[in-house]
Order: sequence, then C-alpha cells, then structure tokens
Amino acid sequence: MDEFDCAVIGAGVVGLAVARAMALAGREVVVLEAEGAIGSGTSSRNSEVIHAGIYYPAGSLKARLCVEGKQLLYAYAQERGVPHRRCGKLIVAASQAEAAELDAIVAKGRANGVDDLVLLDAARARTLEPALACVAAIHSPSTGIVDSHALMLSLQGDMEHAGGVLALKSAVRAARCTVAGIELEMVDGTALRCRTVVNAAGLNAPALASRFDGLDPSHVPQAHWAKGSYFVLGGRAPFSRLIYPVPEAGGLGVHLTLDLGGQAKFGPDVEWVASPSDLQVDPRRGDGFYAEVRKYWPGLPDHALQPGYAGIRPKISGPGEAARDFVIQGPEVHGVPGLVNLFGIESPGLTSSLAIGRHVCELPGIAA
Ligand SMILES: Cc1cc2nc3c(=O)[nH]c(=O)nc-3n(C[C@H](O)[C@H](O)[C@H](O)COP(=O)(O)OP(=O)(O)OC[C@H]3O[C@@H](n4cnc5c(N)ncnc54)[C@H](O)[C@@H]3O)c2cc1C
Repeated sequence: MDEFDCAVIGAGVVGLAVARAMALAGREVVVLEAEGAIGSGTSSRNSEVIHAGIYYPAGSLKARLCVEGKQLLYAYAQERGVPHRRCGKLIVAASQAEAAELDAIVAKGRANGVDDLVLLDAARARTLEPALACVAAIHSPSTGIVDSHALMLSLQGDMEHAGGVLALKSAVRAARCTVAGIELEMVDGTALRCRTVVNAAGLNAPALASRFDGLDPSHVPQAHWAKGSYFVLGGRAPFSRLIYPVPEAGGLGVHLTLDLGGQAKFGPDVEWVASPSDLQVDPRRGDGFYAEVRKYWPGLPDHALQPGYAGIRPKISGPGEAARDFVIQGPEVHGVPGLVNLFGIESPGLTSSLAIGRHVCELPGIAA
C-alpha cells in the first residue's frame, strides 16, 4: 500500500489552500481530486466576492475566518498577481422597514472587526451610484472581487513548489481509521495509508465521511443543498460597486456582482434541491429576478437578463432551520487521530480559504 504523510480530499479552493498550508509547513502532501481538473465544484460556481465579514455571528468561525481570510487574500493576490479589485459594495434598503435593519448590520460588522462600514442616506448613496434607488445604504469599502480560478492555480503552484502532489481523477470511496493511520480506499481499487487526512470534498464531504469506518456517525451532519442561480445582464453594467439588498433567509438576496471583465450578473437566489448535481438554470426563475432587482435598480430593461450558471451551497442546516457555522472537526472533536472533516463550507468559504488552511494546520493533533 502506498503511504503519504498527508492527503487532502478535494481540489476546490479550500482543499488547495489547506494543501498549500500543509506543504509550506513541511508536510508531504497529496491532493486527491475526483474530477479531471481543479476547481470544478462550487469553487467555480460562486460570486467571486471577497466578503468583508459583516453578516456572521460574532465569534463564529465564519466571522473570524472571513475577516482574517479577507486580509490574507488581498495580501496574497497583490503579491502573486492574482487578478482582484477592492471595488466596495453597497447594502441597500429599499423601504423604511429595511432601513431600520441597517444599524443592526453595521453593529454586527463592527463586532466582527469590520470597522470601515459607513451608513449613507439616499442622496449620498446616489452620488456614489447614480443609477441606484434606495432609502438608505451601507458602504463597505473592503468588499472586493477575485478571479477564483487564478487564485486556485496559484495555490496549486505554491503547493507543488513546496513538494506537494496533485492527483486528478482520484476519487476516494471510503476510509478505514486504524491505529496505524487512515487507509483511503480509492474508487479505482487502490489504497493509500496516511497519517493525516483532510476531507475537503465540499458538497460530498458528509456522504464521504459517512463511509469512514472508525468515525462515529454522530459526528457527520445531514447534508442539505441550496441551489443559487445567476442571470447575466446583457450590455454595460450600471454600477461600479457590488449592490446587495438586505439579506434574506438562506442567502444574501439577489445581488449584483461584477466580474473582473466588468460583466454584471444578478443572483444567486435560493432553491432547495434534492441532488448536488442539479446545476441547470431554469430560465423561468429569471422572471422573479426583475421585481427583486428593480427594488434597487428601477432602470433594469425588460428582457435584459439571460440565464447564466448555478452553484449549490453545501448546507448542513435545512429549509427553515437556523444557519450553521462552518464545521471544522479535528481529532479533539471526534477522537480519530489525524482526521479533519470540513462540513458546511458555504459562503464565505472562498474569502476564508487561506485562513481555513492556516486554521486546519494548527488544529491540535494535526500540527506537525
Ligand atoms: C452560489 C454560491 C455563491 C457563493 N459566493 C461566494 C462568494 O462570493 N464569496 C465567498 O467567499 N464564497 C462564496 N461561496 C462559497 C464558496 O464558493 C465555497 O465556500 C468554496 O468554493 C468551497 O470550496 P471547497 O474547496 O470546500 O469545495 P468545492 O469547490 O466544491 O471542492 C470540493 C472538491 O472535492 C472533490 N470531491 C468530492 N468528492 C470527492 C471524492 N470522493 N474524492 C476526491 N475528490 C472529491 C470535488 O470534485 C471538488 O473538486 C458561494 C457558494 C455558492 C454555492
């Protein structure tokens, strides 16, 4: 049986960031990816926003790792020439009732260490974005956008430069956790024994963990999948900053994001689905976008939105249940030496990726 010090399952942005951190710490690392390319899962199907860290409960992993991850990501992107832009965002209240929620959002952000938020009245918001309709807004100058694929390529390059190996078309079927290490059973029938295994399989992480012999099933959460569809705007973007409504249950509302080429897209909405492969965009869902978007951009022309793409949030809470924090389970939680499970790494997982990598490396029982 082949032996490795450390295997990371999944070459999404989080798996690659963890593998990079492990390799830079001097560990022997292999990344096992089921598909034929890196980043073919949720990491290629998101808004590519560098979140400020505003919305999450104070002290949560989401809050801490997002704020830390944002700082690490800006510095890393700057240093490595990963395309990104600190374009800022406005969170807009479309009614007096929503305006009353803005103070609480600012307070939440400040509690998380996001101390650059500025409340704007409608006139000041319109001096920043003349096409905007709102009653009031919050300006978040530290929000930005990043080319997620360029980021993943850079993380892969760092990992390989530090001696790590990427194995594509290498799907893990199951594992056996023994005193001599963790034996990974691959779909092709081969096996690998490792001292450390990090399950960063995204949407598939809970299902995979349920096939880890020796891990108490009570540590594996039920997976839920919340699809988000995007619709792209034909023609020129009307805003130079990202525009978000006040958040809604299960997501951040139908917001406007920009990519680095200046293309505007709206989404993602929230649709609970039964399968993690349900990635088709139903063009009819676009009908509901017009009313949502016109609350803050009344100038949206009829028929201007075209179906774009969809991503699926790896949720570990279901419809109507309270949102859950990231779950990063090391040996001190489940008692299996050398095993780390990452569950529920939904947004802001892209922003947090470098901080998650650092955090996993420093977990008790994992640190070299
Ligand atoms: C609609 C949407 C919008 C979002 N917007 C943002 C945003 O703007 N900003 C932000 O910070 N975050 C955002 N996120 C969250 C972010 O995209 C994710 O947190 C992040 O991409 C998760 O990365 P990952 O590496 O954990 O998972 P993934 O990218 O899904 O990678 C998991 C990998 O594991 C592989 N895999 C699965 N099973 C196996 C197996 N058995 N063996 C080997 N490999 C396996 C898969 O093929 C895949 O490549 C968004 C998410 C969604 C769904």
